[in-house]
Amino acid sequence: MATNSVTVRVPAKVNLQLSVGPRENDGFHGLVTVFQAISIYDDLTITHAAPGSGLALSITGDHIAGVPADETNLAAKAAQIIAKEYDVEIDATMQILKTIPVAGGMAGGSANAAAAIVAIDALYSLGMTREEMVKVARQLGSDVPFMLNGGTAIGRGRGDELTAALSRGTYHWVLALSSAGLSTPSVYAECDRLRAGLIIANPQASDKLMQSLLAADEISVGKHLINDLQSAACSLRPALRLILDVGQEYGALGGIVSGSGPTVAFLVSDEEAGLDLAVALTASGVVGSVARATGPVPGARVIETR
Ligand code: ATP
Repeated sequence: MATNSVTVRVPAKVNLQLSVGPRENDGFHGLVTVFQAISIYDDLTITHAAPGSGLALSITGDHIAGVPADETNLAAKAAQIIAKEYDVEIDATMQILKTIPVAGGMAGGSANAAAAIVAIDALYSLGMTREEMVKVARQLGSDVPFMLNGGTAIGRGRGDELTAALSRGTYHWVLALSSAGLSTPSVYAECDRLRAGLIIANPQASDKLMQSLLAADEISVGKHLINDLQSAACSLRPALRLILDVGQEYGALGGIVSGSGPTVAFLVSDEEAGLDLAVALTASGVVGSVARATGPVPGARVIETR
């Protein structure tokens, strides 16, 4: 029987390292980042619709303000690229159930783009190779290739030149979420402003972080989390400093603004420590809401076909 509908599950990410090089002439920055995919997921379902009807998008979930339901959505852009490059008519409905915080520095939009690539490939039996998927992903954004793979990986260039990181163990995270997002371009602009006049070296992967991941030493991973955008995110949203302080006070192994923020990710030793910290953060009154997650987890993958 022909497949009528495909559901793909895709995780969020945190950056264990985000080192930002000097601003280049085209406005971008060379990066070295260490991504880890974590167990907070969006589900994307694509279903055949009547011939000629085009693509109709719907977004559901508790906090979806700011997510476009038109052709500017990254999942719709993925569909446009594949339709053109693979000469396929995409007459379908695409439903995205969002749990990944929007504009939270957790790559929600990129995750949806990766999910759309995997879902369209499966629904239309395109037989895309990994390399072909990555080629489409890179046109959509620098985090999209990682969201296809998941796990733990080093990203260089714009973050889209990936190599697997040798990482062992499972890491427990507590995420302090904010109800209002931060725009990634404005955080980079603030980073440039704060660094004006300084000489910025080209970024390198942190040996200490890589050794800690290889040894599954979560205490050492906690000590070596690093994010060059953290000062900029805190400058734009001073409450983030308070949140970082509360996490440290209540026993987190390490705390870091995730990507461009405003989500703050705390590494904890186990599930129980995660519960304790989640309670402390909630009671502190400085955090909008709290989520717990583990990583690494796989990237975008089909969970149901009908
Ligand atoms: P990153 O960590 O990659 O910088 P982010 O997690 O901070 O991204 P997103 O959740 O990806 O931010 O959203 C950033 C903006 O992208 C949103 O405000 C929205 O305007 C736009 N956007 C486009 N498509 C999507 C999508 N499918 N889901 C969420 N946002 C989307």
